[in-house]
Parts: sequence; C-alpha cells; structure tokens
Amino acid sequence: MHILPLLILPLLSTASVLQHRYDHDHSHNVKRNLPSTWYHHPSHPVHSLFRRDENITYAPVGSTEWAAGYPPDPPALPDVKTIPAEWLAALNDAIARKAIPDIPLSKNTTDDGNPVYPTGVDPNSPEICSSTYQCRIPGDVWDAPAGFLGLSFDDGPEAGSGKLIEFLKTNNQQVTHFMIGSNIRDNPDAFIQEFNLGNDIAVHTWTHPHMTTQSNEQVVAELGWTMQIIHNSTNGRVPKFWRPPYGDSDKRVTAIAKEVFGLTTIIWNQDTDDWSLTDSPPGTTAAKINSSMHQWLTGPKTPGLIILEHELSNQSVATFMSAYPVMQQQNWNIMSLAQLIGQNASYQNADNSTSPVNDVNIINAKSGSPPSAPSSTSSTPTNLQASGQPSVVSSNPSPTSSTKPNSASPRWVMGPTAILSVAVIFMLWR
Ligand SMILES: [Zn+2]
Repeated sequence: MHILPLLILPLLSTASVLQHRYDHDHSHNVKRNLPSTWYHHPSHPVHSLFRRDENITYAPVGSTEWAAGYPPDPPALPDVKTIPAEWLAALNDAIARKAIPDIPLSKNTTDDGNPVYPTGVDPNSPEICSSTYQCRIPGDVWDAPAGFLGLSFDDGPEAGSGKLIEFLKTNNQQVTHFMIGSNIRDNPDAFIQEFNLGNDIAVHTWTHPHMTTQSNEQVVAELGWTMQIIHNSTNGRVPKFWRPPYGDSDKRVTAIAKEVFGLTTIIWNQDTDDWSLTDSPPGTTAAKINSSMHQWLTGPKTPGLIILEHELSNQSVATFMSAYPVMQQQNWNIMSLAQLIGQNASYQNADNSTSPVNDVNIINAKSGSPPSAPSSTSSTPTNLQASGQPSVVSSNPSPTSSTKPNSASPRWVMGPTAILSVAVIFMLWR
C-alpha cells in the first residue's frame, strides 16, 4: 500500500511539467525549457555589475546630474570606448567560456527592410536562429501560457504615455513597459508615474537599433546603459527582461543579453503594427487593428497572447483602450507580461516595482567575497520623486495590494495538479 504513492508521484510530477509547457509548434521552433529553469540566480555576474553602493547618494530622477550620467541621444550610438570596464570584462569572460556564438553580423541594406546576413549564411540555421526570420531560440519567449494575456508596451516613455497612464490608473491594471533608455532620460516624469503605478520596467535598448547589426560591444552598451538608468532610477532594481527592437535578435545577441546581463529575450506572437498609425501615410488604421484584436481575443486560448503594442502615440494607446473591454469579456487572465513570464518576479532582484529589493549588495560573483560595505537588504522606499517636483505619489493603496486577485497568477496553473497529487496520495495512503 505504501509503495503506490511512490509510483504515482513521478507520474503526477510529469503531468505537472507537461501542463507547464506552453510553447507551440512552429516550423523553426526548437522546444525550450520551462521558465522556471531559465538562468536566474543571485550569483549571476549581473548582480555585481549593477550593485548598489550604499555610500553613494544617487542623483534624483529627472535632475540634471542624473541625466548627465548617460550617453547622448540617438541617432548617436553609445560610445563603446566608454563602456564600463566591468561590462567589458563580463563580455570577455562570456566569450572565453564560449558562451557567445561567433557568428556574422547582419546588415541594414534598406531603410525599413529586414537586416540581412552575408551571402550563404542562413538566418534560420540553428547557428544563427534570427527572430526576424521567425526562428525561435530555446529560452526566448514568444507565447504566453494558455488562457493568459501578458500586457506590454514598447518604446516609452513617449507621446502616448500620458493617455496610457490615465487608463491604467482608472482600470487598476499593471503592464510591462519595454523602455528605450534615452526616452527614460528625456521623459523622467512619465517614467516615474509609470513606475509608481506598479508597472514593470524592462529593457528596449538605448537607441533602438536592429541588434543583430551591432557588434558585441555595441550590444553590451545598448543593453547595459538601459539597465543602468533603470537600476539607478528604480531604487536598484535589475531588469529581468528585454525585447529587441523590431523583434530582431539571434543566437549571438540573445546570448550576450543572457550571459552578460541575465536578461531573457521576449518577442511576441501577435503584432498590431500600431507604431505605423502615425506614419505618413499611415501603415495601418485603427479599424484594422480593432479587427485583428477581435480575431485574436475571440480565438483559441492556446497559446496565450503576447500582443505587440506601443505607447508611441495617443492613437496607438487608443487601440489598446478599445480592445481592453474585449480582453475582459473573453475571460482572458490579463496581467503584466513580466509578472506572467517571470512567475511573479518582474526583476532579477525584486518581485515587482513596489516590493523590497533583494540581493542588492550581496555578492561579488567572481570572487565570491562579500562586499566591503556592510550588507543589508535594501528595503527601498517604494515611490520615486523627481528632483524639485511635487510627489507624483497617489494616496491610493499600492497597486500590488489592490483588488486584483492573485488567481490570475500563473502559479495557479500548477495548483490543480498539486492539489490532485496531494488528494490522491492521501486517499491511497489511507
Ligand atoms: Zn520598439
């Protein structure tokens, strides 16, 4: 009698794992690991790259001193000669470990076309696996779990951010912002408001290039400076996710993001083209987007949805606002994409934008030695305040302690299996 539970337990565990897989078949898809197996550990070198120094008083977000600490505006690229030595050392270490594939760079041959690789190089080969050509690298995220809809907005803070902020506030809805580093520097007020609302901040590079056209050092600069401004402006949070501009990554770029900075690459599985609403002539229309949205939202729930949307303009935000009631009516589990994919941890060292920051000052991964300064878990003040400006903090309860039920959490995906396991074992045992 006692041996039965031992036999049945592995079966149930397997079922639980299978239930947790949500990648779907795709011609170039390589089966990837579960989110829980992705590289995420406090000993990752990124924790020493962006360690917060308690002896330094950081310049207030939005101040001149704060803004002066970063590279110039696009189209100037961050100067690779000014990359912090620690980032370069981490890159060289990863190269020495053979963790960064030595593959050719792509080139932009037309203004708005896809970048191309040298003649004879197949972008869909396992060595290159370019997401621009729809090749899926194991560990990259394209789909949401069945029934879930992960919300995210790219390119902010930008012209549509104000309208988006008001809508999110009204609906008590959190999202993930894939931010352009130079836009954070140029629009600190919108940045602060979005962060203070409990939204998750993720990386969308400093100047928004096709990343597969960039050298290893340029990739490090684009990601590193954006992580640095987010880290310095969120009381020390280290982002966990990045989305490549134009969805353009490959084995080399994805490896640098992961090996040097601990970042997971996120793409999407539906594209609104909302960025082109304000082009002249417009590349799409609100009606077209509404129609696509309706089709996706009323369609199959497997896989779940990751829809590419932008906070570039009031028009692009308006298409999201029109679709939002349909998302709710169709009973999607709607949540911030970083919360969804990160299984309730949006940052490498914090659960979300309002929870305490952990492991801030703990480990020098290379030497394994403790930091010289006394280590303490930084229980950070939650809300930021721009320099010399009235607080943008609202007196409302923190969004994370709001009425949004945790039942939307992907942890519950495993819940029924776990409960069933316990119930079956209990019955068998008796
Ligand atoms: Zn973008």
